[in-house]
Amino acid sequence: MLADLGIKTVADLLEYPPFRYEDRSQYHPIGSLMEGEWVLTRGDICATGGFSSRGRRFAVFEILLRDVSGSIRVKFFNQNYLRNIYREGRSLIVYGQVRRDTFARAGLCFMNPECEMVQDEEDTSVHSGRIVPVYRRLGDLRPRTLRQILHNIISNMPLECGESLPTYLRRQFRLLARAKALEQIHFPQVDSNSPVERAREMEKLNLGQSAAHKRLIFDELFELQVAIGFVREGRVKLFKDRAMEVGERERQAIKKILPFHPTAAQKRVLREIVEDLRSPHPMNRLLQGDVGSGKTIVAAQAAIVAVENGYQVAVMAPTEILAEQHFLYFRRLLQPLGYGIDLLKGGLTAKAKRETLDRIQSGETSIAIGTHALIQEGVIFHKLALNVIDEQHRFGVIQRNILKEKGDCPDILVMTATPIPRSLALTLYGDLDVSVLDQLPPGRKPIQTVWRKEKERETVYAEIEVEVARGHQVYVVYPLIEESEKSDLRAAAEMAHHLQAQVFPHLRIGLLHGRMKSSEKEEVMERFSSGELQILVSTTVIEVGVDVANATLMVIEHAERFGLAQLHQLRGRVGRGADQSKCILVGDVEASEEARRRLEIMCESNDGFRIAEVDLELRGPGEVIGTRQSGIPAFKYANLIRDRRALEIARIEAEKFLNLVKFRPDPEWRTIAASIREKWRHRFNLAAVG
Ligand code: ADP
Ligand code: MG
Repeated sequence: MLADLGIKTVADLLEYPPFRYEDRSQYHPIGSLMEGEWVLTRGDICATGGFSSRGRRFAVFEILLRDVSGSIRVKFFNQNYLRNIYREGRSLIVYGQVRRDTFARAGLCFMNPECEMVQDEEDTSVHSGRIVPVYRRLGDLRPRTLRQILHNIISNMPLECGESLPTYLRRQFRLLARAKALEQIHFPQVDSNSPVERAREMEKLNLGQSAAHKRLIFDELFELQVAIGFVREGRVKLFKDRAMEVGERERQAIKKILPFHPTAAQKRVLREIVEDLRSPHPMNRLLQGDVGSGKTIVAAQAAIVAVENGYQVAVMAPTEILAEQHFLYFRRLLQPLGYGIDLLKGGLTAKAKRETLDRIQSGETSIAIGTHALIQEGVIFHKLALNVIDEQHRFGVIQRNILKEKGDCPDILVMTATPIPRSLALTLYGDLDVSVLDQLPPGRKPIQTVWRKEKERETVYAEIEVEVARGHQVYVVYPLIEESEKSDLRAAAEMAHHLQAQVFPHLRIGLLHGRMKSSEKEEVMERFSSGELQILVSTTVIEVGVDVANATLMVIEHAERFGLAQLHQLRGRVGRGADQSKCILVGDVEASEEARRRLEIMCESNDGFRIAEVDLELRGPGEVIGTRQSGIPAFKYANLIRDRRALEIARIEAEKFLNLVKFRPDPEWRTIAASIREKWRHRFNLAAVG
C-alpha cells in the first residue's frame, strides 16, 4: 500500500512527518471534564447498551465509563462490532472531545473518540501516556496505524543515517544529529513535568519550531541552496559572443522617447541591466517591482539598447490581452525611433501570421511582442539577443528555456509584480539575479479603498456621480474568468447598457473588452484618455498597460471573485495623478472566509509586499509564485514564509560551504556536496553543468 504512494523504504516512511501533535501524557479524572475540551481519560466500563434506527441505517453502541471521580457516556456510531470487544468490567483509555449529550439533559459524552483497551496496569501505550504524533492519512492507512508502524520502526531499529550537514554547521547552529531529529519528530520526548513547560514545548512542536523541526528545516533549505549554487556556478561558465555597447547613440535614442524623468530606482535598475548587456556572460535577471513602479519603461529602454546594437528583442506576456497592451504601449512609445514592432498572438489569419513570421525571420521586426505564440516551432528569429518576459510567475522554466533556444545565448529579463521577499526570490529563481524597483514615480497618493456590499449599490452610484462631478473619470471593472468568458462579457455589456440607460443617462459611458478588435479597443481607450468618456465599463483588459491620470475612481464588481494579485493590479490603474484616488470593492462574501480576508487586506493596505505576504499565507507559495512550475519541490518541513530567516541563513551558509569545498576538500564536505548534486541532478539538469 505504501509503495503505491511512493514510500518504498523505511527511510521514506521516516521522512513522513506528523502534521501535528497531541499531549496525551496525563489522564484527566472523568469528574473534572468540561464541555469542548480535548482530553485523555480512562475508566472502567460499567454498562453497555445501544440501539439501531428503523431500517438499521445507523446503529449506536454506547458504554458508560467510570472512575472514582465520576462517569461519562461514550458513543460509537455504526461500529457494532465493538459490542464484542468493549465489555463490562474492562478498562478503556479514551482520547477525544468532550461534548454535550443531546439525549441526556446536563450530561456529557464522547462521540467516536479514539479508544484503546488497557491490557494490564503496567501497559505503556503507543497512543497515550505521551505526546503522540498525528499523521495525515496515507491511502487507506489511518493516522493511528501509521503511529503504530512508526513506533515499531523507531523503537526496534537502530537509526543510522548519514549526516547531511557538515559538522561545523551543526555545531555552529547547535543542531541535533539527523538521526536524533528524525526520532524526535515522530515521538518527541519532553522530560519536564511542569505543565507550563510542557505546554510551551507542545506549542513549539505544533508550530514546527521544536529542536527536531529546526534541524530538518535547515537540512532542506541548506540542500536546496547548495543545489542552486551549483546551477549558478554553471552559468558563469557560459559565454555569449557579443557585447552590446552603450554610447552616445543609444543614450540619445533613449532620451528621445522618455516621457518623464526616471526615478532613482529606475535609473539604478537600468544600470544593472546595461551592465549585464555589456558583459560577456548572458544576463539572467529578475526585475521585481510593485504595480505602477514603472517596469515597462525600463524594459523598453533595455530593448532600445539591443535594437540600436543591431539585435532583435522578444517581449512575451502570459495573456493575449497583456501582449496586446504591451504592443500598443511599445508602438506608441517607440514610434519616434521607427523600429519594426510586431504582435504575434493566436487567432491571426494565416496570411497575417505568415507575414509576421517572415518579418521576424528576416530581421525586419526589431521587437516581437506576443504570447506563448512566440515560442512556437515556426517562429525563427534573425538575431534574437534579448528576451523580456512579463509577469514571469505565470510561465514555467520550460517556456523560458524554449524562448532562450530561439536566440544565441540571449540576455533574459523577467519581470514580476509579485513582490516576493528578496531571500525568497533568490531561492525560487535561484539562477537569476534580482533587481528591485522599490520606489513609485513621484507624486502618487495612497489610494483609499473601501468595501461595499451588493445592497449598498446606490451608495456606490452616488460616489461615482460625485467623482464625475469633480471632473474626474471612473473605471467599472467586471471579472472575466476564462471558462465563463462569454457570459461575463455579456454581464459587462449589460452593465454598461444599464448604467447608461437607467443610472447615468446624462454621462458618457464606454465599454471595453478583450473580444473587441484592436482598432475598436484603441478607439475606446483614446476616447477615455482624452476625457471624452467619463465612465469606462471594462473587463479585466485594463489590468495592465492602461494609464489615465485623470481616472481617480476604480469600482471593482464581484470583487470576491478576484485573486489578491489581480485586485492589487486593477487598483493600480488609479492613483496615477496628483489627485486623491479611491477604489471601491463591491462584493458579498458569505460563501468564503478567504474572500473576506482578501477584501479586508485590500482595504487595509496599499503595499504590494504586504498583500503578497497575505496571498502567500492564504494560498501558499506553490500557487502564488508557481513553485511547482519553477521546479522547486514541495518541502516536507520548511515553510518558505515562516522560515524566511532560516532560508536566508541557509543561503549564506551554502555559499560559504561551496567555497570551502572548492578550496579545502575535506572528505566529509565532499561526500555531502556529491550527494546533494546527485539528488538534484535531474531537477536542475546539473549533469550539463558539470
Ligand atoms: P508596472 O511596473 O506596473 O508595469 P508601468 O510600467 O505600467 O508599471 O508604469 C506605470 C505608470 O507609471 C505608467 O503610466 C508609466 O508611464 C508611469 N511611469 C513610470 N515611470 C515613471 C516616472 N519615472 N515618472 C512618471 N511616471 C512614470
Ligand atoms: Mg506591467
